[in-house]
Amino acid sequence: MRVSVEKMGKLDGKTCFICGKYLLNNSTNDLAYLQLPSGSTQRAKPDKYYLFECPNCGKVAHKRCWYDVGEQKIKKGWFRGSDWRMACPSCGLQLSSTRSERTDWKRGYQIPGHPDDELIELHVGDVLTWKAGSIFGKIGKAIDSFFKGVGLGSLSDSETNAVAAAAGRIGKTIRDVAQQVFRLELPPEERAEIKQLKCQNCGAALPMPDLFEEAVVCAHCGTAHLLPT
Ligand SMILES: [Zn+2]
Ligand SMILES: [Zn+2]
Ligand SMILES: [Zn+2]
Repeated sequence: MRVSVEKMGKLDGKTCFICGKYLLNNSTNDLAYLQLPSGSTQRAKPDKYYLFECPNCGKVAHKRCWYDVGEQKIKKGWFRGSDWRMACPSCGLQLSSTRSERTDWKRGYQIPGHPDDELIELHVGDVLTWKAGSIFGKIGKAIDSFFKGVGLGSLSDSETNAVAAAAGRIGKTIRDVAQQVFRLELPPEERAEIKQLKCQNCGAALPMPDLFEEAVVCAHCGTAHLLPT
């Protein structure tokens, strides 16, 4: 069941009970393997991954983590080697029958008895969209931590030029720009994740600046916003 971007907030901040990492974070190791007709497997294109919730205790983990840690060794006794089975590391629920060999994540791929369409399915693109939006939700609520209000007169020459250029793009001049300017304090590398901007003065949507533009001015109220470059 694919989790929509709107519902992803329910998983935000929650961690995998097995590896301790965020459920909304994944590595290339989490991505699916394809079962080939020959019986071998091949790593699939990294566009989705799965979470599995224990049907007994309700704890959630990355699917790979179930294979990495949920595959448990059962000693058969002296000189008779070991069997393996998948069990919940939290409550002990048995998820597979006993097998003579360990099934690793690459070969296992399916949780026994729980096909992928029953699992929590996360598309990497959806997760990125949600994360970008969540930065904005937080900026809207916690202006002080991301946007700092500064006076127009305190800007450097290059910042003033950037504001003037931004004003020009919406048919205004620097004289139309409000005295309070908002500076977005984010590391420049996070700027690419910004998908929409709102005016910190009036709340109107701001035009998305090109990657090399340093400022954007609200067409509605004339408030300038400086962006990290
Ligand atoms: Zn995990
Ligand atoms: Zn469990
Ligand atoms: Zn505005």
